[in-house]
Amino acid sequence: MKQRINYRLTWLAVIAVIITSISVTFAYYSFFEEQVHEDMRVTAKILKDTEYFDTANYQELEEKNTLENVSLRVTLIDVDGTVLYDNVSDAKTMENHKNRPEVKSAFEKGNGDIVRTSDTVGKNNYYYAIKLDNGMVLRISRQVDAVLMVFVKALPLVFIIIVFIIQACVIISHLLAKRLMAPIEKLALNIEEYSDEYIYPELEPFIRTIRKQHADILSAAKARQDFTANVSHELKTPLTAITGYAQLLHNHEMPVEQQDHFATEIEKNSDRLLVLIEDIIRLSELDDADSEEGFEEFDLFALAKDGINALEINAQKKNILLSIEGESTIIRGRQDLIRELIDNLVQNAIRYNSEGGHVWVQVKNVNNRKLLIVKDDGIGIPVDDKERVFERFYRVDKSRSKATGGTGLGLAIVKHIAEIHDARISLDSTLGAGTTFTIEF
Ligand code: ADP
Repeated sequence: MKQRINYRLTWLAVIAVIITSISVTFAYYSFFEEQVHEDMRVTAKILKDTEYFDTANYQELEEKNTLENVSLRVTLIDVDGTVLYDNVSDAKTMENHKNRPEVKSAFEKGNGDIVRTSDTVGKNNYYYAIKLDNGMVLRISRQVDAVLMVFVKALPLVFIIIVFIIQACVIISHLLAKRLMAPIEKLALNIEEYSDEYIYPELEPFIRTIRKQHADILSAAKARQDFTANVSHELKTPLTAITGYAQLLHNHEMPVEQQDHFATEIEKNSDRLLVLIEDIIRLSELDDADSEEGFEEFDLFALAKDGINALEINAQKKNILLSIEGESTIIRGRQDLIRELIDNLVQNAIRYNSEGGHVWVQVKNVNNRKLLIVKDDGIGIPVDDKERVFERFYRVDKSRSKATGGTGLGLAIVKHIAEIHDARISLDSTLGAGTTFTIEF
């Protein structure tokens, strides 16, 4: 992380330095060029105003060579273009300059200038020609570095700046990464007791997510722990009873009716154990169930009818009237799970009902909402317990649940199955008047 910030920052700085150097060179160069033009214009004007070249004896000028070592090249051109004097080359060997653009322009308009690339690499020649009062043309020229050369000359300085910047970047990125990482490192040490003062706004969503996940993990772990403790307790009770009755059966002098009673108790508790274990296995299967796997389209009404038929005997035993009404309603899901959901709800409606009570099952389509309603006129659920009945092993009346073969897991399974199907459960109940469970697919 620190290294990445370092690399990025360094690259950014180096690129910025190079771009700045190039643009500054160009800006400076255009200003410099302007200055050279201006200087040459002024120099030519001064030279003209001295009137020296109007009257000078060129041979004498050449012999004395007064202008030999100045950085300015001075050329005097006669009205016909013949070079009369040049302080750098021999005037006699020079060709006629009449057609040189700057000279031509001076003859015609009074002055002219031009920039020509020099034979020397990286140099430019600046020419300025001015017409003298006697009709001749005086031309001055200077050799100046081309823009590329200026940049090349600036390179060592650019390089030194880059070295400095890289060093600065290393230090800055180190400090920056340290500051960025500090809250995360602190958080890693202790995710719970962590003061908000160190958190900068950009980090808040991350911290919030991490904390939420942490809290979720803790609560899942706690739920698992509670579940394990509950399971152990629930399994222990029937097993203790079975062991107890089995030990008592060793006493062969006991009357046969009593032996029968103990055997029945052993059978009842074993059945109970099996039901419990089946429900536990079911729940753990549901925990692992991949959503949408094994989903198919089927008629909810037909499935509910099947379920009701199978539970009819249970209802009759308690003299409860079981009825179903509705219409064919196609839903997508796992038939086996939905069947289990219906069974659990209807079984509860029978179990927590009174002699001669009613259980109504309805399957209907209301404004494209596919509803399964299981309603009873049984004992009802107290308001305070409404939320909790879906918890694993939670029962309103433990002894009644156990006496009727309940495990406390039925509604937890129902809730789980509904979640897998993205269905919503609502529970409406009045103590002593009845309960309605509505599943909306
Ligand atoms: P159980 O195996 O005990 O029935 P459930 O998870 O199915 O476990 O239900 C949890 C508790 O919710 C039950 O013990 C019971 O107290 C209450 N309950 C569930 N359904 C009904 C109902 N139709 N009427 C009244 N109480 C109910």
